Amino acid sequence: MFSKILIANRGEIACRVIQTARAMGVRTVAVYSDADAQALHVAMADEAVRLGPAPVADSYLRGDLIIQAALDTGAQAIHPGYGFLSENPDFVADVEEAGLTFIGPSADAIRAMGLKDAAKALMEKAGVPVVPGYHGANQDAAFLAGKADEIGYPVLIKAVAGGGGKGMRLVERAPDFLENLASAQAEARTAFGNADVLIEKYVQSPRHIEVQVFGDGKDAVHLFERDCSLQRRHQKVIEEAPAPGMTDDVRKAMGDAAVTAAKAIGYAGAGTIEFIVDGSDGLRADGFWFMEMNTRLQVEHPVTEAITGVDLVEWQLRVAAGEPLPARQEDLAINGHAFEARLYAEDVPAGFLPATGMIDHLSFPPDARIDSGVSAGDEISPWYDPMIAKVTVHGPDRARALQSLSAALDATQVAGTVTNLGFLRRLARAADFVSGDVDTGLIARHSETLCAKPSPTPHDLAVAAATAAQFGDEPLTGFTLWQPLQRWIALRDGDDETVAFLTVQSATDCVVQIEDAAVRLHRRAGHWGLHAILHGGHVTVFGSENFTFEIVDPLARAGTAMGGDTVLAPMPGLVRAVAIAVGQTVAEGDRLVVLEAMKMEHVLRAPRAGVIADVTVATGDQVTAGALMVRLEDET
Ligand code: ADP
Ligand code: ADP
Ligand code: MG
Repeated sequence: MFSKILIANRGEIACRVIQTARAMGVRTVAVYSDADAQALHVAMADEAVRLGPAPVADSYLRGDLIIQAALDTGAQAIHPGYGFLSENPDFVADVEEAGLTFIGPSADAIRAMGLKDAAKALMEKAGVPVVPGYHGANQDAAFLAGKADEIGYPVLIKAVAGGGGKGMRLVERAPDFLENLASAQAEARTAFGNADVLIEKYVQSPRHIEVQVFGDGKDAVHLFERDCSLQRRHQKVIEEAPAPGMTDDVRKAMGDAAVTAAKAIGYAGAGTIEFIVDGSDGLRADGFWFMEMNTRLQVEHPVTEAITGVDLVEWQLRVAAGEPLPARQEDLAINGHAFEARLYAEDVPAGFLPATGMIDHLSFPPDARIDSGVSAGDEISPWYDPMIAKVTVHGPDRARALQSLSAALDATQVAGTVTNLGFLRRLARAADFVSGDVDTGLIARHSETLCAKPSPTPHDLAVAAATAAQFGDEPLTGFTLWQPLQRWIALRDGDDETVAFLTVQSATDCVVQIEDAAVRLHRRAGHWGLHAILHGGHVTVFGSENFTFEIVDPLARAGTAMGGDTVLAPMPGLVRAVAIAVGQTVAEGDRLVVLEAMKMEHVLRAPRAGVIADVTVATGDQVTAGALMVRLEDET
């Protein structure tokens, strides 16, 4: 076994590899960019080497610097993780030329599977079923359009060098073909430097089912399947193992095909054979087709580990160190069911837009497996993948594992950046998913309910207001028992603003008025039970959803702070009285306007001495929060 390895990656996968290496007594070297100097993977490794500035081209894609770092630190092998250099055959060749071991397949195996067209041709030859279509060299637009007609619509145009769902277009009808071809080619040229495409039959009710394979260069086994049909923009969101509805004979057919594929290229290490499956009428032994092979450890490998008890990274290290396959096919069995959900910093209602931001608070339930490369205080930067964590659960059967997934997502808390957490929670409870009726269109079909921006309840708002008012776990201080303490708090979420009116009734009781609703908060056993945190002028409530609000002090906005020139409406309300007129001289603290809001009268007073320059409201006016009511000027 190696005594020291270098991990050429960052984030959760670097942390995950370090964990297994440490358990095996193997020392670890991390590499990092300037953006990651304080990152978790750097802290976890025994040693760390700086690569360069944040952009990946200057850091995590600098194979030369990575190899030099391995040589300088005395590492004998390099684990590539996924993404970055993991499927780059030239990097593998350079690693080997430097006398180091690449923890993964040979450069030749990666090359054989690197382009989807060549991989499909190879698999066809090996007798593995491939998706019907055209994957030849002729890239003439008219020729490809003719092929699409032959294949029959709908068809899928795919970049041969594609990955991550890029360079892919679904075309429903012939008149749309050329336009989609041009945009797929343009996207492929930018993303992969290769504009070539292939045309495939679009499988109806498609399910994405992939098989985990493992080889030692001579022999290969499979570790069963994962269903990754829950996708948005052709990217996986929740994965599970085994696949719902899988039968023994279909599993055997898919497993055999996957092992055949791995053996055909003398595969060494962990790999995944992705199949597209016709799910329109149950699973059939003749209803699955090879899509592509990912020649690396896959993001969703934890669900396989959960049902097989195998540590795939341990296997990677052992096979790379020259050991034979750690298990025979007949030694491997499925135990129970597992799910993985990918928690991303992304804006779901905005179309799953990647987001950035500071993670002010992050906490997970203790009974789920959490793979994460960040902790509270870290930033999700624009430089890298916005994944925050993978939440993996295991249960004796699908129903109980899915309940555990819901419970784990409900107990997950993130504040500071927008995330897809609410979306994941709703998805975990979606009827079709619960019943196992999955296909790759499920999310899009239910996007209206899954992606809707939920509204906070009055209770969520009351909790936010009390937290913003700094109700800690202390009894309320600074108030007098014979006189209720009252306070306004305005909570803003984008353009939506809600004003909460808090009335403290005793050291353990508070009523929060939110529009027409009165929410009672009670301090019990030393706690207010407010599941929320304050962070940088914001408050995040961990309710049925995580809601984040900007805290606005309505009185500050009203201009009652000393010296202000304007008096604004602190909250939406009805003007009950205007006590002044233009030209009138006022002293600081004089009554200006009486506003009625939430059945309470609120007196707005002069923030300083001066002359009334302007009055823009009249008795009976309805005003919005922040509306200008009175303007003051200096006495001349
Ligand atoms: P697949 O299912 O084919 O493995 P995934 O959705 O699981 O695809 O994501 C793998 C992809 O994630 C990589 O191919 C790459 O585009 C991206 N990626 C690469 N490096 C990283 C990284 N360090 N952290 C997160 N994502 C990465
Ligand atoms: P990538 O390299 O981007 O992962 P894949 O070939 O693996 O590309 O396809 C990504 C996704 O697109 C699949 O998981 C599946 O949801 C969908 N897909 C791919 N091929 C087909 C097809 N022939 N019919 C229907 N859906 C497909
Ligand atoms: Mg794929």
